[in-house]
Amino acid sequence: MKIVIVGAGAMGSRFGFMLKQAGQDVALIDGWDKNVEALQKDGIIANYNGEEIQQPIEAYHEDAVDPELKADLLIIFTKAMQLEATLQKTQAYTHNETRVLCLLNGIGYEDILRRYFDEDQIIIGNTMWTAGLEGPGRPKLFGDGSVNLLNLGKSDAAVSGAHEVIDIFNEAGLNGVYEKGIFYLIYKKLCVNGTMNGLCSLLECNMAELGATEANREIVQQLVSEIVAIAQAEDVEMSREEMIAHVEECYNPETIGLHYPSMYQDLIKNNRSTEIDFINGAIADKGKKYGIATPYNDFLTRLIHTKEELLGAK
Ligand code: NAD
Repeated sequence: MKIVIVGAGAMGSRFGFMLKQAGQDVALIDGWDKNVEALQKDGIIANYNGEEIQQPIEAYHEDAVDPELKADLLIIFTKAMQLEATLQKTQAYTHNETRVLCLLNGIGYEDILRRYFDEDQIIIGNTMWTAGLEGPGRPKLFGDGSVNLLNLGKSDAAVSGAHEVIDIFNEAGLNGVYEKGIFYLIYKKLCVNGTMNGLCSLLECNMAELGATEANREIVQQLVSEIVAIAQAEDVEMSREEMIAHVEECYNPETIGLHYPSMYQDLIKNNRSTEIDFINGAIADKGKKYGIATPYNDFLTRLIHTKEELLGAK
């Protein structure tokens, strides 16, 4: 099976590295010139739990993909705002039975993917793996994780396609899980990303520092209440109290509290645009669709966009 990963940043490199190390036939596609040059020259040079491991890998610039390349499994790991432009180019290296797996943070990707692929080809999910980048072609890969996924279409072929991906992931140590309640998990993760990402970026603090303030509590509770209301409108059962408690676990300095969320890394450290439109912005959009008021998510989205403009984020 030919596995093509489009978006070879931190996460695309992690999955590419682990799948290739397990003996899979993997190619990476990316639009960042320096990254593609590094991958083509030296392969992936991973800081893998503190050990440097070099893994040669097939890699292409998104504008110079081998016309012979055809993906049996396409894994998407661009940033959310790059997704649509990326999908417009994937026709060249996919076929009618290519499985397309999207593991981006945020919500609503299934609606975008349906415009480019048959429902039976689409697999959605989320992942607890993490990754960072120390430079082009140099991912920093620490810790453990898992991948929860579910076929969007209901045919037998769709179900077996998802199971095939899980088997491949498990052989590579990526810990795949077939998850019928995938939308619950996606919204649960959104409760964390929809609070910690935007607030820590605006306030320039880590999660433990945010949690130590009194005034944040009402904001976090309102953001989560709106997210849960949208989830319920989409028939995803979740409890507001449980989700608030889940978010508050992030404050613990002995677990992940000292961590700066990925949006902080993108915007404050690296001056890059954020995925806010697919996190809080997506909640505000769905609020309009369902007639549910989402003022906190709407306001947070606008504040992050204002900060992006002030910082000249690209
Ligand atoms: P990333 O920023 O590392 O890579 C995404 C794309 O941006 C790639 O095409 C990459 O080449 C490009 N890019 C990265 N740095 C760049 C730079 N300095 N200049 C120009 N282009 C650059 O993103 P990621 O962390 O791999 O995330 C991909 C998706 O996975 C996102 O939706 C993210 O929210 C999600 N996700 C990330 C993590 C994580 O720990 N990183 C965990 C779970 C989910």
